[in-house]
Formats: sequence, structure tokens, C-alpha cells
Amino acid sequence: MENVADYKEIVEVIQDSGGDAFKRCFQCGLCDAVCPWNRVRDFSMRKIVRQATFGMTDIESEDIWLCTTCGRCPQQCPRDVKQIDSGVALRRIATEYGVFPTSVKPIRTISGSLIGEGNPLSEERKNRGAWAQGLGVNAYSEGTEYLYFPGCYLAYDPRLKKVAEATAKILNAAGVDYGILGDKENCCGESIRKTGDEELFKRLARENIKAFIDNGVKKILVSSPHCYHTFKNEYPDFAVNFEVVHISQLISEFIAEGRLSFSGDFAKKVAYHDPCYLGRHNGVYDEPRSVLDSVPGLSRQELPDSRKASLCCGGGGGRIWMETPKGERFSDLRLQQALDLDADVLATACPYCIANFQDSKITLEAEEAIEIKDITEIVAEAL
Ligand code: SF4
Ligand code: SF4
Repeated sequence: MENVADYKEIVEVIQDSGGDAFKRCFQCGLCDAVCPWNRVRDFSMRKIVRQATFGMTDIESEDIWLCTTCGRCPQQCPRDVKQIDSGVALRRIATEYGVFPTSVKPIRTISGSLIGEGNPLSEERKNRGAWAQGLGVNAYSEGTEYLYFPGCYLAYDPRLKKVAEATAKILNAAGVDYGILGDKENCCGESIRKTGDEELFKRLARENIKAFIDNGVKKILVSSPHCYHTFKNEYPDFAVNFEVVHISQLISEFIAEGRLSFSGDFAKKVAYHDPCYLGRHNGVYDEPRSVLDSVPGLSRQELPDSRKASLCCGGGGGRIWMETPKGERFSDLRLQQALDLDADVLATACPYCIANFQDSKITLEAEEAIEIKDITEIVAEAL
């Protein structure tokens, strides 16, 4: 094993990142028992924690890049070892040394695009608000109730723009006072932070916070659980506190108040997948289900491995940008679970999940068998 970073540095970097709890590990192995990687290949978070404890981490190994930060093992750990913090700390060392295994190399292009254009998709900043043209979406101005922050994938990705369009249709139907900042906003920075690039995260966050403050933003409505997580739980470290709402929460509230009602239906069997960063990391399990249960004609099914035990799609922790070989993609397992239920639709509430499930439809040759939808697309269809 080549040990590029010395013991002192590894331990110090982990401690600086709040990951010093790894020393509490007593090697029980519960983390490995629940980790989704062990459904597709060998992987041991227990071993990573053990090696870091002794400063024996091989930062050139692909293993330190595998964790999707799904949150399953921290939930199980009897010693509160905070595996995600420790794992991200190891990636910070590798990032500082510029050591990226082949499957992780796309991160370099992603970082360049985030620095230059504020998004990971190599798209131009000036087009960030273009999705909203012709949809009755206003530019945000001071005094508007909600800033709608669609996030990078809904702003640029052709498949995911449909989710932003559905969201605008719902907000307009409910008479919500909202607007967008378009090219004034950046990526939230959540995923690049999980790849260990703390400096770039801070830069993106500071620029966003400045844009929010300059424009008088108080409430932020988001579509991505990753934006939700970072605005709600990480931006307060910069001494700001915005009210952050996920679209599933707002729609659920509007339906309960009678502010949103349906004139159509959606007569299909729908299995709901809990995104890790909405469910496990932030406790939002009921609202997306109550939204789906309100849609006329819809029959909702529970997947195995749901709610707290949800099976990760594989896209968190920056893995959305890394190569995962066929046969090792969790999203294939998840899609198969939905197919086994004979669901017509696999619904979720996260752009990474949708992107991964769309790919899995091709891998599993299930393009005619099932649809992948965001809950907003289902609601918008039934309005
Ligand atoms: S669950 Fe916690 S204590 Fe047990 S091996 Fe994993 S990190 Fe160590
Ligand atoms: S957070 Fe999830 S992917 Fe990462 S090691 Fe734990 S169980 Fe595995």
C-alpha cells in the first residue's frame, strides 16, 4: 500500500473536518452490513475508518471515492463515528494532492465548469434562466415571497427542465408569489463539497449568499434535496439563516389548505423512492407521499427498503459525476424493485435519482415497462 500522505497530516485533516469521531470505532462492522455497495461489490467503510485511525490511508485508492454519503451507516453506528465527515476529509487530502483515480477524473472538468460558469454541466451562466421563458415566471425582486432555486440540473438538463416547467405550472396554479434569480445564482455547492473541494464549495456558497442578500431573499423554495440540505444545514455556518422549503412540502401544504386542487387524474400505479438527502438526511418522508396520495386515480405502492432504509440511487457524494461500471449501479437494483412491484411509474423528488433511474431504464431494457417521474410532473399532469 502506498501511503502518500503521512500519518500526522491524515489525522489532522480529518480532525479539521470534524471527523475525529472515527477514533471511537470499535470495528463492529454494522456499517458494512447496511452499505448498499455490498449489494454489488466488496466495500468496507469499517476498513476505511480503521486505516484512517492509524494514518494508513491509501489516498490513491478508489475506495475513498466510493461512498455516496447515503447516510445509512451513520444511522446504524453505535459509536457515532460520523463516517461521512471522515470520508470527505480523506477526499480533501486527495484533492489537495490532485490524486484522482480514473473513475474520478471527470471531477476536474466539473470543477472548471463550476468555477467558470457556476454549474457542473459546462453550460453557460447566461442561459441559467432560459428554461423559464414563456412560462409566466418572473425575475425575483425584493419583496417577492419565494425565491425559486431550481438548481443546475433543472435549469439546464433537457430531461430535468421538464421538472422545472412542472414546478412553475404548479406554483402559477396555486398563485404563489415567486421569482428566479437566473444567471445571478450558482450551483449550491453540496456535491462538490462532498468530493473534498472545500474551497470551491465556500466560493459558490459565498457568491450565492451575496446574491440572496443583495436581492432581499428570505424564503428559498428548492426542487433538489441536495440544495435543500446545503441551504438549510450548511449555509448557516456563514452566519445566515434563510427559510428553506422543499417543493414537496409546499405542495403538500397547498393541497391540505385547498389552495391547489385537481381537475384531472393520474390513474397509474406509482412507487415512491425516498431520495437520501430528502428522507434520511432531512426527515422529509411524509409530504411527498401525501402529495401522491392526493392525486385522483393514483395508486401508491411502497418499495422494499423505503423511508429510513431507502436504497440510495448512487448519485450522492459527487458520485453523480463519476463512472460506475455496469453491474455496480444501485439505481439498477432500485428500478428492478419497482419493476418487481409491477409499478407503472417510479416517482421521486430529486434530479440525481431521476438521472440515474433514466439510465437504469436503458441498462435494464425497461424503456417501455416503466416511467420515471418527479412528483411535480405527476401533480402538474393532474391539475
Ligand atoms: S458501525 Fe461504527 S463502530 Fe461499527 S465498524 Fe462501522 S464505524 Fe466502526
Ligand atoms: S454513507 Fe452509505 S454509501 Fe457511504 S459508507 Fe455509509 S452506507 Fe455506504
